[in-house]
Parts: sequence; C-alpha cells; structure tokens
Amino acid sequence: MDLSIAELPQAPLALVSGPDAALSAAEAEGLDLLRRAISDEFRGRIAVVSSFGAESALLLALVAEIDRATPVLFLDTGQHFPETLAYRHDLARHLGLTDIRDVAPARADTERHDPDSWLWHFDPDACCALRKVEPLNAALASFDAWITGRKRHQSPTRAALPLVERLGGKVKINPLAAWSPARIEAEFAARDLPAHTLTAHGFASIGCAPCTRATRAGEDPRAGRWAGRGKVECGIHGGSAEGDVP
Ligand code: SF4
Repeated sequence: MDLSIAELPQAPLALVSGPDAALSAAEAEGLDLLRRAISDEFRGRIAVVSSFGAESALLLALVAEIDRATPVLFLDTGQHFPETLAYRHDLARHLGLTDIRDVAPARADTERHDPDSWLWHFDPDACCALRKVEPLNAALASFDAWITGRKRHQSPTRAALPLVERLGGKVKINPLAAWSPARIEAEFAARDLPAHTLTAHGFASIGCAPCTRATRAGEDPRAGRWAGRGKVECGIHGGSAEGDVP
C-alpha cells in the first residue's frame, strides 16, 4: 500500500484554527496526510511515536482530533526527567488519548547490558539501542505505519525530511515536516495546549535526562541533545534525520 504525495489533493484543507491561521499548501498537505493515514489507508494499523517532549503536544492534539484511540507509543527508557513522566500523564488526560503504551526494554536486558544505568555515559549508541531502538522495533511489529513529529526546521540533519519514508518494511509519516516554528506556536496557542514544564527553563528539545541540556541563544533547537558527544540521532530512524522521539 503506497502513500504518494502526488496523490494528495492540491487544494489546502480548511483552516485548523481560524481565518487568520491559513495553512500553507505544504502544511495542509501534511495535515491531510495525517488524516488519511489514520482514518483510511492505515486505519487500525498505525501508531504515533511520541517523546512527550517540548513540541509533542501539537502532533498529539492533531491525532486526537482525528481519533483519540490512535495508539501512542512512549519510549519509557527509565532515564526520563520526572517532569516528562508527569507531562506524559497530564497531556494524555488533557487530550483524551485512550491508548498510550509505554514501550520499555526488558528488565533482563537492562540488567544484563546496563546494570548500573551508566551505559549512556560510556556508550550512548548502545544505550539508545538497548532502551529505544530494540523496544520500539518490537512494539512496531503489530503496525504497518507510524507517525513522528519531526520537522525540517529543527536541525540541518532534518532539512530535507520527506513527508513519507519507508524503513524496515514500515511506512513512516512525518506530517509536520514542513510546519514552521510560527505555525506550530500559533496552533499550540490556539488550542491552549499545556507546555512541558522544562520549556520554561530553556529546554527546546527534551529527551533522556542524562543526555539533554537546555539550549543557548542562537543554537538549533536540538543542540542540547547529546551535546558534546558527537551524536545527533538515537537510531530509531535507521540513520535518517532523528525524530520527535526520545
Ligand atoms: S538518550 Fe541517553 S539515556 Fe536515553 S537511551 Fe539514549 S543514551 Fe540512553
């Protein structure tokens, strides 16, 4: 089953949040793709992968507006900020999402490979593989497609992010790829969405606590992720630009 951008309607969709918030054609294309994927092409066979991070609320709100029962996969690495775990519960309740699934590594695997929870320090790639990549691959086995909140503006590695990708036999959809920071901010405000509390402390992108710092003026939003480690991806995207996931 193919999702082709060329098949999408040419006319922009109705406005999301009012007459002053007309979506660009590219933004509308992503939203239409999201609607079609959840309601039609992959109905019952698609999940959202969310970090419940700084910008997660908008994608989850758009998904909830289509179908609140859409499965949401949260990678519970065991290394999150307490604020993220609280936000995961509060935001899910706020949006009425009914199928949040915590995806965690097997205890036997963490006890064997990272008994002291210090693997992030010595080998972050191995830590991400253990706590994110392998659990997510297992969780995605029952789905044909998944949705991410990645955006082109977030970092140079995402500048050419397509709306639709294929990875490991799955279709991966990036409906907000073309959405601008201004659009995201406007739609976030229009829905009065609750913010992750760490955004008020300079965290523009929020992943695991040991591997995330606040960003500084002039930095890319993701500059605080694995800062100084020479690492920009967690690996769940198979080497493509990393996503809105932990
Ligand atoms: S982001 Fe850091 S703590 Fe989280 S899984 Fe990757 S290396 Fe481990």
